[in-house]
Amino acid sequence: MAKLKEIICIPVGTFQANCYLIKQEGHVLIIDPGARAIKIMEYICDEIVDGIILTHGHFDHIGAVDEIMKATGCKCYLHRNDQEIVKNKNLNSMNGISAKIYHEVFDLHEGINQIGIFSLEVFNTPGHTPGSCLIKIDNDLFSGDVLFYMSIGRVDLPLGSEREMRDSLRFIKTLDPSLTVYPGHGQSTTLEFELNQNPWL
Ligand SMILES: [Zn+2]
Ligand SMILES: [Zn+2]
Repeated sequence: MAKLKEIICIPVGTFQANCYLIKQEGHVLIIDPGARAIKIMEYICDEIVDGIILTHGHFDHIGAVDEIMKATGCKCYLHRNDQEIVKNKNLNSMNGISAKIYHEVFDLHEGINQIGIFSLEVFNTPGHTPGSCLIKIDNDLFSGDVLFYMSIGRVDLPLGSEREMRDSLRFIKTLDPSLTVYPGHGQSTTLEFELNQNPWL
């Protein structure tokens, strides 16, 4: 029998960053809780929170991390190359808004990460930030601020790199086109559509 999985998208904060809840078999994984911890937690019924996964360290994706960790006791995971960003407000602020994570953040490493019942395949795709990752769960790809519907993430922010983004986009073209893409902002899409229509790919 196929495993029933539900993906809930909750846009939060000034920049409407997409927080995703992935629910399966009474467990939930939270991706990028950027703001509005209470609103996000209202979507969690009696599921066990297996963890918080961050696609990268910018303030608009991390603002509710401490509050949710405190409320649920779960752990938070982020690629090591963005650890500095979440501990230093100067590196993740925009228009005077910033955020910081005070709890310990664990390493999300490249390859397979088993977090609770969820098996995540992680690809480090720098350019927007050094530790930006694509997170693949089954046939779904959470693309953070690397790839958007018909667009890509900025490379002009602190620690951004146009050259690295070019390499990351080249890598994205090697992934399975049938993947459904859930970006850090805006609507979901498919990799096949982006490969055909996104001017940056
Ligand atoms: Zn970002
Ligand atoms: Zn963002």
